[in-house]
Amino acid sequence: MKLNILASAGSYPGPGRVCSGYLLSSHDTQVLLDLGNGALSNLLKVIDPKLLSGVIISHAHLDHYADMIGLYHYFKFAHTPPHPVPLYGSSEFFDKFHHLIGIDEDMRSIFSETIITEGGFGKIDNLSIAFSQSNHPPETYISRVSDGKSTFCYSADGDESINLALASNEVDLFLCESTWSKKGSNHPAGLHLDARAAGEIAQRSRVKHLVITHIAYPQDRDEVRVIVSKYFKGRISLAEDLDSYIF
Ligand SMILES: [Zn+2]
Ligand SMILES: [Zn+2]
Repeated sequence: MKLNILASAGSYPGPGRVCSGYLLSSHDTQVLLDLGNGALSNLLKVIDPKLLSGVIISHAHLDHYADMIGLYHYFKFAHTPPHPVPLYGSSEFFDKFHHLIGIDEDMRSIFSETIITEGGFGKIDNLSIAFSQSNHPPETYISRVSDGKSTFCYSADGDESINLALASNEVDLFLCESTWSKKGSNHPAGLHLDARAAGEIAQRSRVKHLVITHIAYPQDRDEVRVIVSKYFKGRISLAEDLDSYIF
């Protein structure tokens, strides 16, 4: 599989970084994971959206779906896909998306919608996806993906949970958030991971390659790397917009 980092900023854009977007590819299958504010611009640098096999939106926070409005208008006015593009999301995401766009015949011809539920499964061409809920408000889904050869887990947003430990178990590439370098008094539990927690989860799950993302500006990225490396002994990368990894 190949992972393109489209957008790696946490919660809001940082200098030179935009919000949450990733492209996961296996052979001709190309699945978009999240599309936050600014991410569509980088998606267009990597792929023509008409080639997308499917889209998964992890949760209804704007830094993970704001540019779905732009993608809808690209499809509506620039290139209507020959078949509706599979779109997976929580019921809350679809409520908000429909409120922003409206439901009309264009919407039905552009996306075919599937509501994600706890423990649910998806299939997009040759990719199998297992969804489990993370420890983050609102309803948020971790994705564990396999193409039969390689395995991948995207933490989405969320604090520590049994579901995240299970979903990341022994994956080849673990794309994991660390919004903060160290949790402080203004960082409540049940929202996000810090660098120590991300490293500990990756170590316990025996993942091969840990890619840290969603680091919120102005967290010290060097400090994040140092802390993660204390707790995780495998390969570590910090996601940069437009980087890619093959695994
Ligand atoms: Zn976020
Ligand atoms: Zn969030």
